Parts: sequence; structure tokens; C-alpha cells
Amino acid sequence: MRWKDGRESDNVEDRRGMSIPRGAKIGGLGGLGLVAVVVIGMFLGIDPSALLQSVSETQDTSVTSQQSGSTGVNDEMRRFVAVVLGDTEDVWSETFRKMGRTYEEPKLVLFSQAVESACGMAGSATGPFYCPADHKVYLDLSFFEDMQTRFGASGDFAQAYVISHEVGHHVQTLFGIADKVRALQSRSGSTERNKLSVMMELQADCFAGVWANKAHESRQILESGDIEEGLNAASAIGDDRIQKRTQGRVVPDAFTHGSSEQRVRWFRIGLERGNHQACDTFNASRL
Ligand SMILES: [Zn+2]
Repeated sequence: MRWKDGRESDNVEDRRGMSIPRGAKIGGLGGLGLVAVVVIGMFLGIDPSALLQSVSETQDTSVTSQQSGSTGVNDEMRRFVAVVLGDTEDVWSETFRKMGRTYEEPKLVLFSQAVESACGMAGSATGPFYCPADHKVYLDLSFFEDMQTRFGASGDFAQAYVISHEVGHHVQTLFGIADKVRALQSRSGSTERNKLSVMMELQADCFAGVWANKAHESRQILESGDIEEGLNAASAIGDDRIQKRTQGRVVPDAFTHGSSEQRVRWFRIGLERGNHQACDTFNASRL
């Protein structure tokens, strides 16, 4: 992916190396297996607070100040994240402008170990998430290593897809889609709730594809192999693949993010069409 000549966003909040209060409770990172928590939290955009609260085990964690990670490789990663975020700002600002609206840019918080968001405390194992209450995307860069080692999803474009997916949840929030879905979910049974969650996630995947299309149109970001990287990442983190890895069987009603096939297909729809209106997963004849 070509990114080094891109514009860096001013909206990266670097909280790496910042200490959080001693004894602060970090939701649910105690008794659960790391993979399970990564999977639950990964790409979570609908309601992180629900996740953090739903896991009742909390753990007293004293996180002491650690050395700032903003040197060397991480510094390059920070620039990469800022450029991808800048690209999403350009693409969505233009889209909103055409609709006669103004795009409100989200902040992206880089953190290490643990972070406090308006949706609650989260640890690195939660994975990247978007908090609708403060309009911020939260990302621990170590997640990208996990993606590579645990899910075999490597490459800079795969990482950009993750960032862009989270920004997609921000766009859903600005469009008012996220609120509507949450309201519907609050009066639905668990099967219906999961289905609505899948629709949200697949739409965010599709929005990520739209970003890639538009950013390529204006800055030729895509290099050979990038599309495959993005599709591979979308496939690697599908619920069915992950359930097989963690439970040994597939339980469709428990899907909350979509199957590998669905995630790939919706990412591709966004990528090929380059129009967010093609991403209406809620009224699609085939999800
Ligand atoms: Zn998501």
C-alpha cells in the first residue's frame, strides 16, 4: 500500500505509555482466554460498554507508567495510522459534503495496555473498538502483531482495513444508523440482536471498501497484493472461522460479525462500487 506521501491526520491522540490510575478496574480481562477476548472485542463498534460490563469478572490491575513506545518502528506505525485516518477524513468529508452535510472527524486514540474511554475501561486484549459516546476509535498497535500471529492476516493494507472499519462505525453513528440499531436490539431476542449486529459489522466492512476505492481514486494507494491482503484479513476474522478455531464448531445464531464469506463479499461490494449507498446491509436481499 502506498501511504508515505499521504497527509497525516491531526486527530491521533497518542496515549501510549500513559499510566492509568492504580487499582483501576479493567473489565473482563481476567479469567477468559486471550483469544476469546480478542475475538469478542475485535472490530467491536456497537457498544463496547456492553462488552465491558457483560464480562462480570473484573480484575484489580495496577498499571504502572511504562516507557513511551513512540520511537523507532512504532513511530513509523504512528505515521501510518495518521495517514490512513487522514485518508478516511478526506473520503468521508467529501461524501458528507455531497450530501449537504459536514463530516465530524473522529479522534483515534493510540494506547498501550489499557485505556479509559467514555464506554469504560478497556485493555489491549479487547482489540480495536469505536466508542460512540465519545466518537473515538481506540487502537493498541500490538493488535496488528496479533492479527499476524493469531489470524495470519498481515500487511499494511490489512491494517488500514481495520482502521477504516472502525471509522465505518463512526460514520454509522453520524448517519444515525447505530442509534436505530441499538434501539431495535434493546427490544429483540438474542438471535435477532445478533443478526442486527452482523448487519452493522458487514456495513462497516463495506464502508471500509468504499474508503479503499475512493482513496485509490485520489491517491493511487493500492499496490499489487493489497486487495488480497484486505480480503484475507476480512476472511480470517469471520465469525465462522473464529468459532471453529475457538469452539471447534460453527453456531450461526451466535454470529455477531458475519461469516468469512460475508465479510469478504461486503468489503468487496464497497471496494468495487465505491459508493456507501451500495452498503445497505439492512435492506439487502442477501446478507
Ligand atoms: Zn466492527
